[in-house]
Amino acid sequence: MSDSTAVSLEAGSPFELRVHLGDAVGEQSVREALASGDMGFLHSYTTGSTVDGPGVRAVAWTTGCMWRCQYCHNPDTWTMTNGLPVSVAKAAEELGKYRHGLKVMSGGFTLSGGEPLMQHRFAAKLLAAARQMGIHTAIETNGFFGDRLSDAELDSIDLVMLGIKTWDSARHLALTGQENGPTLDFARRLAARRRPMWIRFVLVPGLTDDLADLAKTAEFAAGLGNVERVEVLPFHQMGRYKWERLGLTYALGAVEPPTAEAAERACEVFRNVGLKAY
Ligand code: SF4
Repeated sequence: MSDSTAVSLEAGSPFELRVHLGDAVGEQSVREALASGDMGFLHSYTTGSTVDGPGVRAVAWTTGCMWRCQYCHNPDTWTMTNGLPVSVAKAAEELGKYRHGLKVMSGGFTLSGGEPLMQHRFAAKLLAAARQMGIHTAIETNGFFGDRLSDAELDSIDLVMLGIKTWDSARHLALTGQENGPTLDFARRLAARRRPMWIRFVLVPGLTDDLADLAKTAEFAAGLGNVERVEVLPFHQMGRYKWERLGLTYALGAVEPPTAEAAERACEVFRNVGLKAY
């Protein structure tokens, strides 16, 4: 398998629809790439993000996700081979172009997705390469495969941004297709290792805005002791066209983004237990 050069790694935003970029890669090669981490599949790189961690960030968006969140903004990242096959060396080289600028802007590198730990060897290698260049590193993850990273690998990531979708396990299963137990276990492990963590919570009217459920998430988060901030992300419809273009049934077509007051109410639930929430 070799780097693909026909499509630019750089995208204007992760909302660009990208499919079938890695279709030519055989199943065996995909398996080998996953096992070694020498190759990975990326939807794209974006630069200049101010919403994916501290400061200004370069973000690599991986493909592959084991969840099927009803509100997912980027369903084209679910399938690994929708991404571009890229060697870890090439991905690191791409990142190296921005190293000085990222430092000047107190930013860094964020590995996001999709779910980056679907490619946990590649993730570990790329994050280590970034760190070696002196770049601040962050990973945005749903935490489901958190146990795939060793303690040493975890300790070398500057910030984990963990998505907690909802507290109630039956609701979580309906919302994402998976249990939330592994995510919560990962949060506990990060707390035990005192690793800096942000929690990201997508607020969807009628789906994740139950205040009693939110209060339980908040109580859990406050008890961890390592949560530096909570980000309440208002649901939006920017990913809707991807569902339609991919021929997927989108259940949230009639759902409006939450009002500013509703987002503030959700933040208050987290602030009430002593957390910083935005
Ligand atoms: S975990 Fe993220 S990428 Fe995966 S389905 Fe949910 S929102 Fe989409």
